[in-house]
Amino acid sequence: MKFYTEYLWFNTEKKRQYIRITDQVEKAVQKSGIREGMVLVSAMHITASVFVNDNESGILQDIDEMLEKLAPYRPDYRHHRTGETNGDAHLKSLLMHHEVIVPVTEGKLDLGPWQEIFYGEFDGQRRKRVIIKVMGE
Ligand code: ZN
Repeated sequence: MKFYTEYLWFNTEKKRQYIRITDQVEKAVQKSGIREGMVLVSAMHITASVFVNDNESGILQDIDEMLEKLAPYRPDYRHHRTGETNGDAHLKSLLMHHEVIVPVTEGKLDLGPWQEIFYGEFDGQRRKRVIIKVMGE
């Protein structure tokens, strides 16, 4: 089995932002030369996520509103006793999960018709990264 690793760096303009990364993952799969296998795409942070969903601005706003309802930005999280202010971002990351695995077939991402890969940032405006690990033959 072959492995290929690449990192994507982000420094978002906003604190919370959703970035489509399907093309970057597809390029990493091409560079790997792997034809059959899978690719792991994983946020290397506890306040960010990687998820698969529709590249449609309405649903991205709906996701953002859902997260703000379930884990609102507020000052009184226990986590803030450490001096941090990003308790909501940790919870949002848990709700959206930190990684996905996507199948690779005949050298390409084998996604469904509307599936796209996104990086979800919940505590941005600083340098953060995602690991892409392609595995297969
Ligand atoms: Zn924190």
